[in-house]
Amino acid sequence: MKLWWLILLACCGRAPLVDEPGAFYTWDDRTMHCAAEIDDSDSIPMTSIMDALDRAASEGSVLELLVHRPGVSMTRDELTTLLQGVADRQLPFLTVKDMLAGPPRAGVALMFDDAYPDIWLGVEDLLMQYDAHVTLYITWYARIDQHARDGIRQLADDGHDIEAHSVNHIRGPNYVDAHGLDDYIANEVIPSFEVLRADGYDPVSYAYPFGMRTDEIDQAVLASGYAKTVRALVQPNPARASACPL
Ligand SMILES: [Zn+2]
Repeated sequence: MKLWWLILLACCGRAPLVDEPGAFYTWDDRTMHCAAEIDDSDSIPMTSIMDALDRAASEGSVLELLVHRPGVSMTRDELTTLLQGVADRQLPFLTVKDMLAGPPRAGVALMFDDAYPDIWLGVEDLLMQYDAHVTLYITWYARIDQHARDGIRQLADDGHDIEAHSVNHIRGPNYVDAHGLDDYIANEVIPSFEVLRADGYDPVSYAYPFGMRTDEIDQAVLASGYAKTVRALVQPNPARASACPL
C-alpha cells in the first residue's frame, strides 16, 4: 500500500513547479510564504525550475526556492545552472527583507535552511559571482560552536539575510500536541529570534521545520510580535503532514 502510494506520487501526484501557486510571491503583503525545495532528493527537474523562472519574470512575482546544502544536497553544477538561469532572465535575487520592503518586482528568493555555514561558504564564490543574496533560515543557533557562528557572521557581512528557523528543529504540530501551543511559542519560536538578536541580527521571519504548520500555529507565531512572515513548503515530502495553504 505504502509503496503504491509512493509510486503514484513519484509519477503523477505532483503538479509542475510552474503550476504551484504557493511558490510565487505576488506582492499581496501576505504573511504566509511557501518555498519549493529543490534539493536533488526532491526530484524537481531543472527544466521545471526554468519554467517557473519564466513565470516569475512574466508575471512580476518572486519564485521562492529552498536548498539545504548547496554543493552537497544539490550539486555545484546544478547550482551554477540555476544561478545562470536567473541571470539570463535578468531577475534580481531578493531576500525576505527585500520582499517585506518592496517595491513589487519579479525576482527569485533563494533560501538555505538549517545551520551549514561551512557548506554555504563553499559556494559563496558562486553567489558573489552572480550577485545572489540568499536568505539563511538558522536553526540550532544556541548550540552551534563559535566557528559556525563566525561563518554565519561572514555570510551576513556578505549581504545574506539571517532569519529564524526554531530552536531544536522539531515538527511544530507534534510539539503542540504534546506540550501545547504556548510552550511551542515560548520554547521553540521566541528564543530562536532572541538568540539571533543577541548577536546583532534582526530576524523578522520564521520558517517551519519540515514545513509543518497549522493555521493555529501560524496565528500564534505572527501574534508573538517576532515574525512578520512565516514560511512553509510547497510540494512537501509525502512523509510530512502539512502543506502550503496557498
Ligand atoms: Zn530545516
